[in-house]
This record gives sequence, structure tokens and C-alpha cells, in this order.
Amino acid sequence: MSGLVRRRLSAHVYAAEQTRPGMGMSNSGLITAGGGLVVDTLFDLALTRDLAKLYADVHPASPRRIVNTHHNGDHCWGNQLFPGAEIIAHRGCADRFSATAPAHLDAIRRMTDPPEHLRDLHEELAPFDFTGVELAPPTTVVDGDTVLDLDGIRVDLIYAGPAHTEGDLAVHVPDEGVALLGDLLFHGCAPVGWEGSTAQWIAALRRIEALEPEHVVPGHGPVCGVEGVRVQREYLEDVQALAREAWAAGKPVLDCCRGLERGPYAAWDEPWRAAANVHRVYRECEGAAWDAPYDTAAVLRDTRALRALWS
Ligand SMILES: [Zn+2]
Repeated sequence: MSGLVRRRLSAHVYAAEQTRPGMGMSNSGLITAGGGLVVDTLFDLALTRDLAKLYADVHPASPRRIVNTHHNGDHCWGNQLFPGAEIIAHRGCADRFSATAPAHLDAIRRMTDPPEHLRDLHEELAPFDFTGVELAPPTTVVDGDTVLDLDGIRVDLIYAGPAHTEGDLAVHVPDEGVALLGDLLFHGCAPVGWEGSTAQWIAALRRIEALEPEHVVPGHGPVCGVEGVRVQREYLEDVQALAREAWAAGKPVLDCCRGLERGPYAAWDEPWRAAANVHRVYRECEGAAWDAPYDTAAVLRDTRALRALWS
């Protein structure tokens, strides 16, 4: 049961929406012009095989292109199942493509007694099977905004990073009012970013809002309209403001999180990801570069502690 549902959004754009919540349960999109363009593959081969079947029903030929919105495995580890496709991504995605090996996550998934900071990840990885995943990295690298012409259908690749990650690309089909955002957008669940910049993420979402897309495909969560983009931008602004104040007052990250007014976001899944988002703002307040190494175990520990508090 892959949980994938295909939705037609416009004349040439489909979404494959993942109905199962949780880390790694990601969405994809298909543009049925110019030989077919897939926006993101999925985390493992079983999921991506189901995705390819959903797409084959409406586009029987194997798609000619893939765009990877960023390098996280839940958006590109199924690339190998579209053999011969041109794989397009931003340089920041290409540079980090091999940063996490499938075998590394598989080892965490199979741990019998994971260390405390990896326990949540260990549980979250349980539904996946990384057997047979071989990284298929980008074959075409872009350095900024790029326009594709798919037999007369204009597709804009918008470089929006470093926001969620260094290589964030949004895919916009302006004549059909559809934007596919990868993990620039989490809908119905809290966003999280392990690198990138809070300010740039907010700016990227403002740029997407100005395009006024009718349909927006988030990286995670149900397809929405532009209001989904606005709500997440406001969340990031709220977290940024609260965390800046708390950092100036010398408060520990968890104390700051306790003060987060969850009103508009109370129904979101995985709200405890706020701890990672606050940690990032704290690093920014300290003047750390967006890609500077940091203590990920401490971030995971605080996220787990907040989960215990809010569950
Ligand atoms: Zn993702």
C-alpha cells in the first residue's frame, strides 16, 4: 500500500499525492508535455515503482526528464527507475547528492538499540526499504532560474535556495497555474530544514506567493492553493521572531519552543520540528553561515524532547 493518489491539476500537470503522513512520505508531479517531465522521485524503489505505474496510465512512454527539487533522498532516490531520463537539478543539489548514503539510513533503520538521538529517525524509517537503491545523480546542472520549453508548454525552474537546502528548485507552469515546490513547502505538517537559511526560505515563499498559482504541490502533505504557501511563510516568520527574542534573552531552545503560539498551526503533524527550526534561527543569530557544520545530535535530542512534551 503505497498511499499514492494521482490528481489531475491542469491540462498537462498531475500530482502524485502521498496520503500517508510522516517523514519521507513525499509527493511528486508529472508534466505530460515534451516527452514527459517528472518532478521528484520517491524515497525507495517500491514507492517509486508505484509512482511510475500511476504515471504510465496517463503517459505511457517513459518520461524524458526528471527535475529533482533538492538532494534529500525522499525526492530523488527513485531516479534509477526512469532509465535514460535527463536528470535536471541545481548545482547545490548535485554537489550534495551523495551526502547521505542509502546504506547509512538503512543501517539506522535496522538498529536494534539506537542511541537516544536516533530513536525517532529509526522509527520514522521503518516503512521504507532501501534495498537496491543506487544513486542516479543529476545529468544536467543549472545555476539559477532556467526556462524549459516542453513542446510549447513553458516550465520555469526557479532557484530558491539556500532555503530548505542549498539546491532548492521550484517548478512553475505559469500558463496552467501550477507550482511544484518540493520541500520549500510542507502542507499540514511542520516544515523542517537542516541547512539553508530562514530568511531566504521566507523570501522564496514570498516570491512563489507573488506568482499566485492556483494549484501548489508541496513536498509533503496535500495539494493546496497559494494560501498554503502564505501560512507556512507566516509560520517561519513567527518562529524567526520568537527565536530571535528568546536568543537575545539567553533562553534555551526548548524554553523558546514552549512559548511558540501554536494557534494557527495546532493541527499540523510533527509540530515538534519547531525545535530544529528554532535551533537554526539561534545559529543565524550567532552569525553562523547557512552551511556551517553544527551539532545535529543536539538538535535531534531537543526535537525528541519537544515531541515528548507535546505528545
Ligand atoms: Zn522531503
